[in-house]
Amino acid sequence: MKILMVTSEAVPFAKTGGLADAVSALAVSLEKLGHEVAVVMPRYYRIDRSRLELLPGPMAVHLGGQEIWTGVYKSSLPDSSVPVYFIDHEQSFGRDGIYGVPGETDFNDNPVRFSILGQAVFQLCRKLHWFPDIIHAHDWASALAPILLKFNERHGEFAGTASVFTIHNIGYQGVYSKHFFPYTGLAWDNFYSAGFEDWDRMNFLKAGIFSADKLTTVSPTYAREIQMPEYGFRLDGILRFRSGDLTGILNGVDTDIWNPSTDKLIPQTYTAKTISKKAVNKIELQKRMNLAVDESIPVIGIITRLADQKGVSELFGPAYGSAYQICSDMKLQMVVLGSGEAWCENELSSLASRLPNFRTYIGFNESLSHLIEAGSDFFLMPSRYEPCGLNQMYSLLYGTLPIVRRTGGLADTVENYNEQTGTGTGFVMDNLNPSSIYNTVGWAIYAWYNKKEHINAMRLRGMEKKFGWDTSALNYVKVYESALKK
Ligand code: ADP
Repeated sequence: MKILMVTSEAVPFAKTGGLADAVSALAVSLEKLGHEVAVVMPRYYRIDRSRLELLPGPMAVHLGGQEIWTGVYKSSLPDSSVPVYFIDHEQSFGRDGIYGVPGETDFNDNPVRFSILGQAVFQLCRKLHWFPDIIHAHDWASALAPILLKFNERHGEFAGTASVFTIHNIGYQGVYSKHFFPYTGLAWDNFYSAGFEDWDRMNFLKAGIFSADKLTTVSPTYAREIQMPEYGFRLDGILRFRSGDLTGILNGVDTDIWNPSTDKLIPQTYTAKTISKKAVNKIELQKRMNLAVDESIPVIGIITRLADQKGVSELFGPAYGSAYQICSDMKLQMVVLGSGEAWCENELSSLASRLPNFRTYIGFNESLSHLIEAGSDFFLMPSRYEPCGLNQMYSLLYGTLPIVRRTGGLADTVENYNEQTGTGTGFVMDNLNPSSIYNTVGWAIYAWYNKKEHINAMRLRGMEKKFGWDTSALNYVKVYESALKK
């Protein structure tokens, strides 16, 4: 099958979140299965042109009433021959930031920028004389590609092309003034018929959901949850309408990077058979974070964007968050790596100054994130919602027991502890509030001190889990086949 991935992010070129990892890993896995895969994305300012190959000739992109000229650069995904095509348009992408910058988190011309991406998909295929069986678009910024396929392009060389649209996080929808609508290149009657209309504004994600042949999201539970008002961010109705075409496929883990037996970023590698060596990492983590060095005290790790989605208000909210009480009442240590909302960064620093067993690193730090996974005994992730989540899977593979809320991918990957039988792979809470976090952490710490044999067995069970991309890629192929049959 020929598959074209349309995306606003892909590692190693541009990343703000899990989308970037997922797109690249999926593309490479599909190629390994024998498919012909290509990726198209914008050439942002930060992507160094001198390392890319410039394709000859400019490429015209029609933006409603006007025509703009773009360049096309080419590279490939690491360890593969998957080509990546970069759409170059200085005025739109020649600036810092993918969707925005700290002072302007959503550029006001984003509907224009990502209309260019959507339109460029079809021009690029014509330029390359390469016509995919599947156009696979990801999140709102790429949503225009399946919409244009359905309403403008499905004839000639694209007559047999089907589309798949993946929702990585329904909280981001791309909602703008309808005055930008002409840039999409669609006729005004498509404002309604393609599903753009959203309280008189235009909503890219909604129209993508409405128009694509098949829909996926990144875990089976999240696929069910987004059809409910609580999690659907106002799009639950349209998702129920498209329910028969929606599949949840769990993201995989890049086990070349996240594998305790080969991890180059941790002081001591280990396997399930040599799990006692994990303690070396714990001691190193305690030293590095300036905590009391003591193997017998359980360490709880947290690595997160400091955003409401992750349950940080219930954990760190000044005066009511549970972290202060947990660290005051229980014999444990807590290590938090994160960056994000300013109030939360301030609160973390304040907690670290008041509590001897609470330490934090504010910022993004890849190697510390590996040390925390390897050196902690528990990993806390009480998300409000979690489309898939990666850290709970890393934790399982590293023998670090996850303490999670039962939502999205967390519900699909972590099996709750049963203290009668000792089964399970982690500790699961149903509700998100300070006391349920407090109680569930308390339960885990109780098991640490009193049910060591259960804790040890759970660790080994988690380390045996398989979260490779190969299984996910096979599930995507099934969705592609069903899209082509539609
Ligand atoms: P999301 O994409 O919603 O942020 P995921 O769990 O799917 O959540 O992916 C987050 C990824 O980013 C994980 O690999 C996590 O380890 C990493 N990460 C988040 N914050 C930091 C940080 N401050 N330093 C290092 N890695 C981080």
